[in-house]
Amino acid sequence: MEKAEKNAVKEEFLEPLSTANEPSEFVKPCLQKPDGFILPYGVPDPETSEIHRELSVRALTGDERSRLGSPSVKKNLGKLITEFIVNGIESVGGLKFDHTIAKKMLIGDRETALIAVSAATYGEIQKIDSKCPYCELPMEHNVDLRRIPIFSPVHIQRDGTGFTFEIKALVNNAEIKAKFKYPNGALQEWVSPIGTNNPLKAQIEMMEKLCVNWNGNPVAPGMFRDGSARLTNDLEQSIAGHAFGPDTDILVKCSGCESEYVLSLDLMDFVFPSSAKMLKKRSGRMYSL
Ligand SMILES: [Zn+2]
Repeated sequence: MEKAEKNAVKEEFLEPLSTANEPSEFVKPCLQKPDGFILPYGVPDPETSEIHRELSVRALTGDERSRLGSPSVKKNLGKLITEFIVNGIESVGGLKFDHTIAKKMLIGDRETALIAVSAATYGEIQKIDSKCPYCELPMEHNVDLRRIPIFSPVHIQRDGTGFTFEIKALVNNAEIKAKFKYPNGALQEWVSPIGTNNPLKAQIEMMEKLCVNWNGNPVAPGMFRDGSARLTNDLEQSIAGHAFGPDTDILVKCSGCESEYVLSLDLMDFVFPSSAKMLKKRSGRMYSL
């Protein structure tokens, strides 16, 4: 009895940080291991269809990091994520990682991969500054990237159109049933420049690309463009509940007034973290001489 207990392999998982958001019924926590990141959904093996989820990651070189700073990459968040993860991820569950996989990967998985490469490159603990909104006390947080809350999809379907989910929503007081695709890297690269100039246009065009079925019928072209604001808002709410991946709204407590507030991490911070800022802080003395 004792021996069996001794030999049993216990999988260790990390307790996630507390999120400011209540997760929906369509997602479940995806706990991370202390020694490596796990994708919330994963990448299907082209030969066996098996889903691979464990990432093998390395740190980016100085050359690779400086290439990410070039204007053509930096201004497109989708492309920036693709380049960052293609450089830093060696394989997913034994499957060699490349641009094709990165573009097919669903957004929630890409964002998780981004955090994994950031941890390998800049360290698992990142310093993030904030200011308490109640008493204005400056705070410095040591955020453990392995403990950022990550959620997996519960009702994901795989068919000819890709990875999809179904929603039932009340739209203009009528119940509708619709089927949507989960967005992937290729779509994120396509929508990023539109979103920079016009977030509302990006939202509508994305919806049109992702909706594959509406009340049992194919989607009429222009349905969302010509539709009312209420239509897109009602839908947006139903779709948002299915979004999975890292939740970057972390709940923190002020050490002064003890109020809780939300620390919102920006995906760009993982690519270009405060290391530049920290370097300046460290060498601040030198400059002031
Ligand atoms: Zn405070």
